[in-house]
Amino acid sequence: MGEKQVMLKDKTALVTGSTSGIGLGMARALAAQGCDVMLNGFGDPAEIEALRQDIAETFGVKSFYRGGDLAQTAACEELVAAAEAQMGKVDILVNNVGIQHVVATEAFPVEKWDAILAINLSSYFHTIRCALPGMQARGWGRIINTASVHGLVGSVGKAAYVAAKHGVVGLTKVVALENAEADITCNAICPGWVNTPLVQAQIESRAEKLGVSKEEGAKDLLGEKQPSKRFASPEDIGALAAFLCSPAAHNITGSTLPVDGGWTAQ
Ligand code: NAD
Repeated sequence: MGEKQVMLKDKTALVTGSTSGIGLGMARALAAQGCDVMLNGFGDPAEIEALRQDIAETFGVKSFYRGGDLAQTAACEELVAAAEAQMGKVDILVNNVGIQHVVATEAFPVEKWDAILAINLSSYFHTIRCALPGMQARGWGRIINTASVHGLVGSVGKAAYVAAKHGVVGLTKVVALENAEADITCNAICPGWVNTPLVQAQIESRAEKLGVSKEEGAKDLLGEKQPSKRFASPEDIGALAAFLCSPAAHNITGSTLPVDGGWTAQ
């Protein structure tokens, strides 16, 4: 039996918001390709340590964790510095951290607007501006931003989220253009509904409003906008992230890649 073929041996990845959901799926998919990874996000320290250890043991890579509230500029800067110090470099930057709040614009709490813009958009700018010089010096980099279908279309009740995600799509295009001649790509993945804790909260509030079970709430949520009527999984998004880091994807840059069961085809 030969050694398993992996694509990203000797590469390193920093994935923000990767203690659960899509970010964890992407960190695991990159580690499965032989990449060292640094996790980031909130959660119970013992559970995070178990996630970190499991990645190292399952995929035979080095794995690290660093917390920090990415609503704060300094925490974003410190995160990239820590990743460079502990892994030696950041070859792959996955910006994935995100929160949601759903209420009509006229009632949208100002502090929620500020938090969503800071976490879902500004943190992406800060980690990119800190990680780019190293990528440029080495002449290789992959930047993947988790945007959303809401980077392409709107939905009621999501003023801050939709504004931030459209902002991520714009930032992605500019970073891609500025680095187009280098082997540094920057792309936005635009998921529709993915079954994660962030969406569970929306399923629960819908089920409560309709007076139905969580299963019925999930069906109603999917039926409204996602023609496939199936959730994507964090593993699906992880597989796309790994592809974007592969040699075959060197000319995919500045793209928005929907994984949305047809949502934005309508
Ligand atoms: P999730 O709640 O499971 O994960 C969010 C992650 O971000 C967690 O690790 C959490 O600890 C971390 N986090 C939150 N606030 C933070 C902060 N201030 N500082 C540091 N870490 C913080 O959610 P998810 O559904 O996996 O979402 C991940 C990304 O995918 C988000 O950007 C979200 O907008 C986007 N997205 C999700 C869906 C979906 O259907 N789930 C669809 C489209 C886009």
